[in-house]
Amino acid sequence: MMKRTERLFARLEEIYPDLVQFRRDLHMYPELSFQEVNTPRKIADTLRALGLEVKTGVGGNGVVGLLRGGKPGKTVALRADFDALPIQDEKEVAYKSRIPGVMHACGHDVHTAALLGVARVLGEVKEELEGNVVFIHQFAEEKLPGGAMSMIEDGCLDGVDVIYGAHVWSTDPIGTVGVGEGPLMAASDFFEIEIFGKGGHGAYPHLAVDPLVVGSQLVLNLQQIVSRRVNPLKPAVVTVGSIHGGQAANVIPHSVTITGTVRSFDEDVRDLIEESIRQITLSTCEGAGATSRLEYTRGYPALVNHAKETKKIEELAKTLVGEENVKRMEPVMGGEDFSYYLQKVPGTFFFVGGQNQEIGASYPHHHPKFDVDERSMLTIGKLFISAVLQS
Ligand code: MN
Repeated sequence: MMKRTERLFARLEEIYPDLVQFRRDLHMYPELSFQEVNTPRKIADTLRALGLEVKTGVGGNGVVGLLRGGKPGKTVALRADFDALPIQDEKEVAYKSRIPGVMHACGHDVHTAALLGVARVLGEVKEELEGNVVFIHQFAEEKLPGGAMSMIEDGCLDGVDVIYGAHVWSTDPIGTVGVGEGPLMAASDFFEIEIFGKGGHGAYPHLAVDPLVVGSQLVLNLQQIVSRRVNPLKPAVVTVGSIHGGQAANVIPHSVTITGTVRSFDEDVRDLIEESIRQITLSTCEGAGATSRLEYTRGYPALVNHAKETKKIEELAKTLVGEENVKRMEPVMGGEDFSYYLQKVPGTFFFVGGQNQEIGASYPHHHPKFDVDERSMLTIGKLFISAVLQS
């Protein structure tokens, strides 16, 4: 077993220059969530050339490759996302984005190239593989409602026994791996509240209903949800991210719009926060003679890793990068639609360090200068390969 793993690792390293080339091509020509056309085409072409059974247009723009092993065994799914972000690339590198205002600023290009490398390496030895491998290339992770749910509805998990997913992490050093079981990433929801008052002259406030004052009060009242209503032992965030209203110093506007995000892990907490926002919005507006419209959008559910698969990746990672380079992750308030897969089949989502100060890869995710050490593709690839071999 060990011998075979090592042989496949060596093969992955041999083809590493091709992974870099593929990643840089994606990096130069990124595509936004739900607008992916060329990226899935390139992925499908590559998978077909490797001799896999390929489905395109899965749940939208998704691509699924099936590798049938020569021997019976489990079906393991591996997932990589491939969408980019509406950010202007400000890096000074040869492979800088050629598309104005669009950039791979979360490393999904790295995920994709690494997964294609795994498909190539495993495809070359399919006769000796026990079981099947499903390569899930997912579109639109960055934007609600995300691509995962529709790909699942379109059958990408049919017959799958276990699933693994990885995220390169630009704030963890190259050569490290982060794992965590249980709730690891938050449920992320969004709200938009429009407050309708009665516009008027700034000098005659008594003849108007000022939505700016009501909105200011509402922003403060919403702060009481986490501090006064949610169990202090349960994590939660309510953030108001924008408040828009008014044009002139001496005019009371007719309406004000407030938007924000909610993060939580526990479904009960999630329900409580949504209900509280509704209630506080109504009562704050009513008390001031204003009316409101509230739109609450549920985003991805909390990502909950399964214990057995997490332990497996942890052990494999310790062997690969050394025990001292594997850390147990604290839960983060960011969201991921890998959570949907984990609601259907057991599996785990893990983090692979990509930070390298020497090459300027040390900016946080979604930063205009975001980059990672491309050798993180080897770590992701090797962990995927060993997870398949040991399932
Ligand atoms: Mn991401």
